[in-house]
Amino acid sequence: MPNPSVCSPKNVELVIGIPLSYISAGQRIAPGVVAMSKHKLAVFWHPDVLLHDPGRGCYEFESSPLMEIDEPHPETADRIVNIRSALRRGDIRKLIDWHDGRHAGRDEIERFHTEEYVDSVIAAEDTPPVRIDGSGTVVNVGSVDAAFAAAGTTLDALDAVLANSNLAAYALVRPPGHHAGRETPDGNCIFNNLAIAVESALRADCQKVAVIDWDAHHGNGTQSGFYDRPDVMTISIHMPLGSWGENHPETGAVEEIGSGEGKGFNMNIPLPYGSGDQAYVKVMQEMVGPAVARFDPDLIVIACGQDANQFDQNGRNLLSMRGFRNLGRVARELADDLCDGRLLLCQEGGYAITYSAFCMYAVAEGILGIEKPMEDPLAYDASIEQPAAPFAAVEQIAARWRALVDG
Ligand SMILES: [Zn+2]
Repeated sequence: MPNPSVCSPKNVELVIGIPLSYISAGQRIAPGVVAMSKHKLAVFWHPDVLLHDPGRGCYEFESSPLMEIDEPHPETADRIVNIRSALRRGDIRKLIDWHDGRHAGRDEIERFHTEEYVDSVIAAEDTPPVRIDGSGTVVNVGSVDAAFAAAGTTLDALDAVLANSNLAAYALVRPPGHHAGRETPDGNCIFNNLAIAVESALRADCQKVAVIDWDAHHGNGTQSGFYDRPDVMTISIHMPLGSWGENHPETGAVEEIGSGEGKGFNMNIPLPYGSGDQAYVKVMQEMVGPAVARFDPDLIVIACGQDANQFDQNGRNLLSMRGFRNLGRVARELADDLCDGRLLLCQEGGYAITYSAFCMYAVAEGILGIEKPMEDPLAYDASIEQPAAPFAAVEQIAARWRALVDG
């Protein structure tokens, strides 16, 4: 049975402030008011990430003979241009430091990917465009430069986090990465920027790294890359989307808990469609927070895609700005409590080019501890009719996870 004290909209507030205080509620106060903050956010950017153009079609696939008008591939540069502008123009801009990124070296990319795979990506650019996964992942003119810039800029953000305690850094990059395996492209992802950063952190002074992936899709590439590793805890909160082609069998089940020495260090939380803000509060409180605390990492890395938002054409989890703000707050508090504030955020999916930007703005507000955040200009109020089913699902997932890991 769902916990009725949690299902009541008013009781979102009651969840807040219990001893495991990794949750706090968003507040609707005056729009655009920035209250005190004890943090700043460093954002890393390189213009070459805009060079990647996957083209047009029937959504992310080849044109349909039924359609007269093709539309842009959803993984368009516009989406992160809007995130950049929101962070530059919004009232939190004074709390954000911007930094130039760089291209990665091949040796850095090969900390995660195989040499053969990197060769195949570079070769694909000789005959553009190429659907390198046989599906929606495209290499076009400029894609290789963009992919190298995305990986290198993520590594610059990592270096800043490792060099400064209490620093949150955000790599605002594309193409995204979390579906890419060590030798496989997938799901609009060419190089797994986050996984390259994790391998790099472990080569530096980190003994253990926790990855929290709140992109709406399962972080299958990151999971597979570290599945047998006890030094990397991978957690993915996603919707159970199913397969999207031969290159992408369905993954992300609760039963995938890691193997060998990595058993117990992979956590999948597949939430029902429409779960909403309050179900994510419950997930962070009852599963993610305690698991990361037990793991006690030296660094927390967030795959911070925004496609769990209410308006995303690729997501069905219906989060609002408030939900994303809570995720940012939890991430910040976990990093503060467990690893001297070391927090790295990596851009992943998020395809609604307006609302993704508002949601990333809300994540930044959460990280910065903004007390009077911006009012949401678009969302349906998810607190009004929160269905009970997601709460029951979270409890079932949590119980199943405990049984699998303890059994
Ligand atoms: Zn996604």
